[in-house]
Amino acid sequence: MKSLVAVLPVALLLFLGACADIRAQEPSPSISAPAPSIAPNADPATATRAWLDTVPPDKKAKSDAYFEGGYWLILWDFLASVAISIFLLASRISARLRDFAERTTRFKFLQIILYAIPLLLLLYILSFPLNAYERFFREHAYGMATQNFAQWFGEQMLMVVVNLIVTSLLLIGLYAVFRRAPRTWWIWGTVVAIGFTILGIMLSPVYIEPLFNTYKPLNDPAISEPILAMARANEIPVAQVFEVDASRQTKRVSANVSGFLGTTRIALNDNLLKQCTLPEIREVMAHEMGHYILNHSFKLVIYFSLFFLAGFLALRAFFQGAVQRWGERWGVRGIADPAGLPLLSLIFSAVFFLLTPVINTAVRVTEREADAFSINTSREPDAFAKVALKLGEYRKLEPTPVEEFIFFDHPSGRTRIRMAMDWKAAHLPCGGSETNP
Ligand SMILES: [Zn+2]
Repeated sequence: MKSLVAVLPVALLLFLGACADIRAQEPSPSISAPAPSIAPNADPATATRAWLDTVPPDKKAKSDAYFEGGYWLILWDFLASVAISIFLLASRISARLRDFAERTTRFKFLQIILYAIPLLLLLYILSFPLNAYERFFREHAYGMATQNFAQWFGEQMLMVVVNLIVTSLLLIGLYAVFRRAPRTWWIWGTVVAIGFTILGIMLSPVYIEPLFNTYKPLNDPAISEPILAMARANEIPVAQVFEVDASRQTKRVSANVSGFLGTTRIALNDNLLKQCTLPEIREVMAHEMGHYILNHSFKLVIYFSLFFLAGFLALRAFFQGAVQRWGERWGVRGIADPAGLPLLSLIFSAVFFLLTPVINTAVRVTEREADAFSINTSREPDAFAKVALKLGEYRKLEPTPVEEFIFFDHPSGRTRIRMAMDWKAAHLPCGGSETNP
């Protein structure tokens, strides 16, 4: 659901998506083919090529098509949000909803709720065709989804309810500072957005994720023990690993680390359990532990704070000018007037659209750090290569460097396999086998 007024929650979801990562489609027999025969003394470039050449051309073409389609969706999503924003302003629907809210109650926070709920519902309806294509029909066309339309739509309705609550609270906070700080609203707006992001990351594993999936402790010691051993070796204070029933929605293999401070939790999904070997599971879980050990939640909160600040600086630069020019026609009075929300959303969407390569690079760099942690902890370069190929079923394996810079929020399969082969070729001494005085 990409409702444009909910651009902050969307940014929040982007952020959560950046943390909940490592996803791959169910491995087909051809992709989980045995490891290529690589001479023991082969150089890393040759070894990387041999791994990549195990993928049949038709599989590669399908994955490229799926991923490149995503480039265009970024553009279509942006253009759709611009068109809907302009429509809501120019038709004065936004102003009329504001008038209705002001006539109904004199309490400001209630006015925001009365304005936001019909507006958000309207936005959901207007963006539904693109949303359904992107998240239902396209996913089915590429064989990734497991839900029928009714199941998918039911979850969408649940998301709409969550979105109405979250966005209303966010807007109450934002408009409260817009009203009280006529000169410095953009600073306080950034503060509200950051506070909301941190709260969202902390609360979502406790209150939102369980609405869609069931998390339970992983009880098979053959799997949980090797994972907990890696946690102990890195001083990660977890006593339990969680399993999530992601097969309800998707065939993709996935694991994630979510939460913040006290709510941090590492979970692997049932697809991963069913479809991956133990070395592959260790590799994926070590990657998630890397996010935890390297403090990626804090790092990403700081990065996203800067992106929010960029959004509010753009608002400060363009909002008032647009209101002076078109405000009378749209019925918008200024930044503290909720009727200007579609304009605020339009400017924010434009900033996040232009920042796409910067945001992807910020996330991709943290992913690369987690990869380095993973390979040093799991010490499974071949399993690392196999997982990279599984992820390659939906993420282009061999992009150009410019493509990887602009569109990749995780390293490409080629980059990851090369990292594993470089690690393997380095022949690091093995821990635990030598006796030190
Ligand atoms: Zn990751």
